[in-house]
Amino acid sequence: MRTIDLGQSGLKVSEVGCGGIPIMRVAPKAAKAIILRCFQLGIRFFDTAHVYGDSEEKIGSALEPVRDEVVLATKVWAKDAAGAAKELAMSFERLRTERIDLIQCHNVTNQPDLDRVMGRGGAYEVLAQARAEGKVKAIGFSSHNPDIAVKAIRTGKFASLQFPFNFIEEDPQEKVFPVAREWGMGLIAMKPLGGGLLDRADLCFRFLQQHPDVVPIPGIQSLEEIDEIVGYYRERRPLGQDDREQMQRIRNDLGARFCHRCEYCMPCEQGVQIPKVLLIKSQVRRFSPKQLVFIAKEAVASVEQCAECGECVEKCPYSLPIPDMLKENAETFKRFLTEHGLTA
Ligand code: SF4
Ligand code: SF4
Repeated sequence: MRTIDLGQSGLKVSEVGCGGIPIMRVAPKAAKAIILRCFQLGIRFFDTAHVYGDSEEKIGSALEPVRDEVVLATKVWAKDAAGAAKELAMSFERLRTERIDLIQCHNVTNQPDLDRVMGRGGAYEVLAQARAEGKVKAIGFSSHNPDIAVKAIRTGKFASLQFPFNFIEEDPQEKVFPVAREWGMGLIAMKPLGGGLLDRADLCFRFLQQHPDVVPIPGIQSLEEIDEIVGYYRERRPLGQDDREQMQRIRNDLGARFCHRCEYCMPCEQGVQIPKVLLIKSQVRRFSPKQLVFIAKEAVASVEQCAECGECVEKCPYSLPIPDMLKENAETFKRFLTEHGLTA
């Protein structure tokens, strides 16, 4: 596993990191074994978030003996200073550390979020104070919206960007990553497997190997998965013509129905939480039924308010058939819960 500079953040990370979402659904003992296996195989970058259930606790506990050998990244969801301070204090405790290497403002995806984070009394003030006190080494942010990401980059206040990047979401290569590079930022690829939609892990990682300054953080939930991923990095087999054709077929199949979570369709006047609902089909693969109820229940309920006015379809740059997709995802949610003996 190679080590690379995370932009000019001063952090050196393994070329692949470990994403902390799926570890939530793994029992503590197995979670520890997975995290330690990642470490044994050379992974030195672990990314989690305040809102990922018990992910911070599991990662913090497993890595405590090797804390100084890894880069720990987490995120604050709150956009205001008081909320961010509370979350940050909890993250130190859960991660069992006195220093967080990279703290990120989580999901800065629309203008109000960016304004709240960067404005007076916003989350950034707290993170900057923590950095000044030496408790945090670098501050980054995550986003799903290219325009907002570019605006946040141009504030010049962030050391890293976490953005979806995989072979069905290549747009950041043109619009976002070049600007981030100009500002010396480190690049982190969230959802390297398309948020669970892409089954061909080999193609996903061989695609990402073409972008060596972008660090993918696949979510790992079994020993086999991490062995497989590290295997692709040992092998480093370049993509051939057949692979490219296969990738194009997959793009074509998914393209017509794939939500990029950019939020250009928002807000909906009826209060429908569009991107949150359109995520459900991929979330059923990654979250436990109880977790899914917690994160998606309210959004699914909002689907009933859809008046099928079509405004969101006009605003969506991918012209997705949003009203139909809302219904399909709401059905998937209900079916998933029924299969697990739960109700919403
Ligand atoms: S079609 Fe439905 S979800 Fe879309 S803007 Fe209209 S009411 Fe909102
Ligand atoms: S439905 Fe379209 S506009 Fe809305 S988040 Fe998804 S891709 Fe973006």
